[in-house]
Amino acid sequence: MIKIFNTYSRSLEVFEPHLPGHVTMYVCGPTVYDVAHLGHARTYVAFDAVIRFLEFMGYRVKYARNVTDVGHLRETGEDRMIVGAERLRKHPMEVADKYMMEFFRDMDALGIRRPDIQPRASMHIPEIIEAVEKLVDKGYGYVIDGSVYFDISKFTDYGKLSNIKPEELLMHRIDPDPRKKNPADFALWKESPPSYPFSWKTPWGRGFPGWHIECSIMSMKYLGEQIDIHGGGQELIFPHHENEIAQSEALTGKKPFVKYWMHTGELTVGGRGMHKSYGNFITIQDALKTYPSDVLRLFILSAHYRTPLDYSEKAMEQAAENFEKLINFFENLSLIAEEGRPKPRDPSLDELSNVFKQSFVEAMSEDFNTPNALATVYDFIKKVNTRLDVIGHEQATHLRQLFLETCRALGLLQKIERRSSAAEVMEFVKMLVEVRRELRKRGMYDLADRIRSMLAERGIMLEDTKEGERIRIVR
Ligand SMILES: [Zn+2]
Repeated sequence: MIKIFNTYSRSLEVFEPHLPGHVTMYVCGPTVYDVAHLGHARTYVAFDAVIRFLEFMGYRVKYARNVTDVGHLRETGEDRMIVGAERLRKHPMEVADKYMMEFFRDMDALGIRRPDIQPRASMHIPEIIEAVEKLVDKGYGYVIDGSVYFDISKFTDYGKLSNIKPEELLMHRIDPDPRKKNPADFALWKESPPSYPFSWKTPWGRGFPGWHIECSIMSMKYLGEQIDIHGGGQELIFPHHENEIAQSEALTGKKPFVKYWMHTGELTVGGRGMHKSYGNFITIQDALKTYPSDVLRLFILSAHYRTPLDYSEKAMEQAAENFEKLINFFENLSLIAEEGRPKPRDPSLDELSNVFKQSFVEAMSEDFNTPNALATVYDFIKKVNTRLDVIGHEQATHLRQLFLETCRALGLLQKIERRSSAAEVMEFVKMLVEVRRELRKRGMYDLADRIRSMLAERGIMLEDTKEGERIRIVR
């Protein structure tokens, strides 16, 4: 039984998708006017772990993540895409292509499962215009010159997701148009000035869509009028997701538009929100120059997705240390598996494996508690490590398989089997061990000991046993 903390009800709820065994999931994608940063990494890695765990549990997940390439207004009333275009002195569509491709590369580099559908807002303009017309016909939308606003007084559930008070509503509005019926009404469609580099023709004149309507339209188009999970960063709760609910439910008359709302916590760098002016703005590409993607992922998953997470060198060192633990464990089990060491099956290790798998599933089923799930992985490594000498090759193969499957349910160690370098290094180590054996036979112990200590300096320990040398990686 999986439980999800639903932002809408502010409580843990048992997860029951509309169609048993199938999950429809939508996560708000980036506005492609600049490079993606660590905040994006946090959100999309966190949801990646959610999706992978659901798939690990046998669900079929249909996942859509949009690309906002038009109509995302800033607090100042400017369109983000226009801001990006002016910065680069290029057409907004060219800017969108550039940053969208970079974003896709960043997501691949982070090992994030590709969404099944990645719709772009600019390719859904006819559907958006049709929906805005329908909202006007139904009395939820009203036209002022070339702009269309949503009348929040017509939607009685407005504010239920964010739990926002009416006085706060007034403070949060970014659109100061004084002709609106209520200052908190939000734009479904905006009239564009004649100088605008891109706009579309509508019954109200030329313009472009409001940001919120695109997610309503694209999620419903690809996933249905009522979806299971909708996610995003917590800064999207208000107004973006609040407005999505209002528009979608007003359009279809069906409640709820989303069964489970999930939001990720903030990522801070050095204790403060990331901002170019603070000098603590870190792009995904920069972070990946310093750390492998698995280390970045371990850092992100070391905190529960809803809690704040602070990026620091110390936290990254800890993640790098934990990554070494995973790699060493995998390599040690691989060594035993490849050694071809016949040993009787140890039933207590089977028991240990069962307990591990069960506690991992329990941790993840409690609102995707990745820190607890990782603790079960580390505990498993610790316990198996004390038994490495008694494990035969068959059992080592099974333990390795279980370990990999579990790590991959979190998106970790996806590429480890393709890491040929580790296998190649091991070939050289084996050659040195053979030379050392020969030297010992000839009584040249000083040279033999030098090989052994040189290997030890590199974290490769040799132990002489009755059955021959045993190689262990401890670095
Ligand atoms: Zn969205």
